[in-house]
Amino acid sequence: MFLTDDAAAYNLCVVGSGPAGIILALDYARTNPHKRVLLVEYGSNTQQKENQLDSSIQINNTVNHHQPNECTNKGLGGTSATWGGRCVMYDEIDFEDRPILNGNCTWDKTILIDVQDHIHKAAEYFECGKPDFDLSALTNADAKPIAEGFKQGVVTDTRLERYSMPTRFGERYAGDIAAQTNLTLAEGYEARDFEQPNAKGKVSFLTLRHVATQKQIIVTADKFVLAAGAQESTRILLRNQQLFRNIGGVPDALGKYYQGHLSGKIASVQFNGDPKKTDYGFTKDADGVYARRRFQFSNEFLKQNNLLNTALWLDNPLYFDPKHRSGAMSFMYLAMITPVLGKKLAPPAIAHSITKGRVNNIPAHIGNIARGLPRSFTKPAAIFYKRYISKRKLPGVFLYSPKNTYALHFHAEQVPFEGNSMKLGSDGERLIINYSLTEADVASVIKLHDVLDHWLRTTGCGELKYWFDKDELPQAIKNMSKDGLHQCGTTRIANSPENGVVDSDLKVWGTSNVYVCSSSVFPTSGQANPTFMLGAFAVRLSQHLSHTKKANKKSFTTQLQHNKPVNIN
Ligand SMILES: Cc1cc2nc3c(=O)[nH]c(=O)nc-3n(C[C@H](O)[C@H](O)[C@H](O)COP(=O)(O)OP(=O)(O)OC[C@H]3O[C@@H](n4cnc5c(N)ncnc54)[C@H](O)[C@@H]3O)c2cc1C
Repeated sequence: MFLTDDAAAYNLCVVGSGPAGIILALDYARTNPHKRVLLVEYGSNTQQKENQLDSSIQINNTVNHHQPNECTNKGLGGTSATWGGRCVMYDEIDFEDRPILNGNCTWDKTILIDVQDHIHKAAEYFECGKPDFDLSALTNADAKPIAEGFKQGVVTDTRLERYSMPTRFGERYAGDIAAQTNLTLAEGYEARDFEQPNAKGKVSFLTLRHVATQKQIIVTADKFVLAAGAQESTRILLRNQQLFRNIGGVPDALGKYYQGHLSGKIASVQFNGDPKKTDYGFTKDADGVYARRRFQFSNEFLKQNNLLNTALWLDNPLYFDPKHRSGAMSFMYLAMITPVLGKKLAPPAIAHSITKGRVNNIPAHIGNIARGLPRSFTKPAAIFYKRYISKRKLPGVFLYSPKNTYALHFHAEQVPFEGNSMKLGSDGERLIINYSLTEADVASVIKLHDVLDHWLRTTGCGELKYWFDKDELPQAIKNMSKDGLHQCGTTRIANSPENGVVDSDLKVWGTSNVYVCSSSVFPTSGQANPTFMLGAFAVRLSQHLSHTKKANKKSFTTQLQHNKPVNIN
């Protein structure tokens, strides 16, 4: 809708309509039917794909960070328009101070406990089934090991990632937003400038700029929430330094400690047992929701060895390398590198993770396809149906290995490093992103591969086969790991403005009514993809702003029990 100058006066104004903004705005409006909510969204369906926000971002390291338009989407639903729908829970260790974090774990376990009250509601919004993230909680899954002979210990094989539809929040909730009479959606408006807070920290209005006409209007509200994604929420705060006048200036942590995940493959795993007993693919829970196992490491082990939280999962061999000899993989690889078609099959960042941007030995791929007929076509056709046509989409493609060999994908926490940052350029508008991997990040990934290798060999289950010589591993990781999709840290939670930007209720230090609801508030990145946790934070913030609280501690106790290290030594 088009806002007029006199539209004003809302109880709550939410900036940004990605998963965080939609969950928060809808949940708050439903809980408070007599309060007026405004949901402001920069994008609109009449806008060009290229947009001023993305084109005013400068990425200083394009080897390890995707381009802005690959990292976010604008418009109702935000980046859920292209996200993969992988829902993962943070772990206890992510809330514990460890020497490797250099004093930068500025939240604690009370937040994890608090968030448990809200994960059920979040899971409903994400349509990812019950928020149980351990295999034992799936009623229809037997508790067989991931591969024959695997034993639990410092390495575990029962932690799960769950999958959303994937829910495209814009399409999925447009009707609900329209039906919610106390909720107004204003598309095509950019949140610009907050009023300077009064002596009590209260901010009364926010200036919006109509993207198409550049006309400015003022919106007054009792409370404001920035849910504009990590980059843009950070940029808005960096631009609005007046918000911090009551605390003597901008918090030192604002824009710093930017983290994502290290991600890639440096090894395969060769299991010794029966290949048919390896759980390499998806399982479905009682509600038909897809879930998949991840190797993780016990909290105690990570703590004792001062390592970063990391997940590893079984994957296909590299698609672009025809040595895999799979006709189905070669067919899918050729489809992905075909102009136009490739773009329709996956968003650029995901496509890149599969093809690595390479056009490689096409004749050999065609040879694989010919040798593998008819399965080279029938297998992709069946996958295509499940992945693109059925209502709940198959989240990925994992193929059986008769040799019981799988590539191993790592997804690892990063050290919160001050030098990884978002800063404003000299024009006060451009967002400059500095992002690189630290030596500690890389060393932890290598060490944990060695730990898994040792564990598999000791238990007789299998071993790792590295794709690089040992001395080449650090550079290989630095060359392959590329993020920018999972953005954490730049407006982090802390118990004082000396250490962070928002308090544990997500309220911006120095204000009494401005909040941030973005993964940028997470001080640590853990091994988890951030959006599910962010959804739980959105429900939690909605309840906090409504002054209601729902209790459901049972599931947390269960989670903690499942997360206990089980040693077999
Ligand atoms: C290809 C890809 C795959 C991904 N897969 C996964 C996955 O499987 N699992 C997972 O957990 N995460 C995944 N992510 C990350 C996930 O998409 C984000 O964590 C999530 O979308 C963040 O939600 P958000 O609401 O904070 O921000 P966004 O979804 O980015 O939405 C922010 C909204 O705010 C609007 N906005 C920005 N600035 C302003 C302004 N000044 N005024 C008004 N509006 C503004 C934007 O237009 C946008 O619509 C993926 C990301 C990408 C790019």
